[in-house]
Amino acid sequence: MLSKPIGLLGGTFDPIHIGHLRPAIEAQQALSLAEIRLIPNHIPPHRANPRCSSEQRLAMVRLAATENPGFVVDERELAKNSPSYTIETLMALREELPDTPLCFLMGMDSLLGLSGWHRWQELLDYAHLVVSCRPGWQPDYPAPVTELLAHHQTRDAEALHLRLAGHIWLADNLPIDLSATALRNLLAKGQDPRYLLPASVAHYIDQQGLYRTDAKIPLASPA
Ligand code: ATP
Repeated sequence: MLSKPIGLLGGTFDPIHIGHLRPAIEAQQALSLAEIRLIPNHIPPHRANPRCSSEQRLAMVRLAATENPGFVVDERELAKNSPSYTIETLMALREELPDTPLCFLMGMDSLLGLSGWHRWQELLDYAHLVVSCRPGWQPDYPAPVTELLAHHQTRDAEALHLRLAGHIWLADNLPIDLSATALRNLLAKGQDPRYLLPASVAHYIDQQGLYRTDAKIPLASPA
């Protein structure tokens, strides 16, 4: 007898926003997932732009998890001092949770680029893939993804409870046209981010002064 499946959502979460959280909540409900694990990725420090630290990204992910029943934070990728491959994270989780179906959540942009991922053919040996639609990313699949879908797609949510891994489920989620990049740009301009991310995260960003640019608009020089 298998345990209830859990959802896994990896991301840079710089910052976490409703485009991450709404599809995860909808998948949690549609697939009766026992838990959603948010897995912040390690990213190498970016020197050109001041950006927030791993600790700050983690703090924001923790705040978001606190507001959402069933959401937990998995810090394993941040704990390592180098980027992790998804396949390695899935293999480690499979060892820890031998009887739990794993549902790796991703946006359509990620599915379209899947064949560029390290050992991508093996991902479905360790997890199901649950793919959310994302405005701007049409399901115009490259050949390797078409083939993967032909073999692995299911429309039956129950099927994800009956096997540990191996299915692809395309979600019918509410499309949300938001990226962290757009949110950072909005914050850099000093605009109000309310309703694009959890209020506690917006408050943290404000308190910490994150994503602001100090660049002043140059004054027009006198004629
Ligand atoms: P950035 O703009 O910094 O590249 P992002 O907003 O795309 O960031 P990531 O942290 O890179 O966010 O994304 C983590 C996961 O969440 C990916 O699988 C991505 O496809 C998914 N995702 C992000 N935004 C959305 C969205 N608006 N709708 C559906 N999925 C999304």
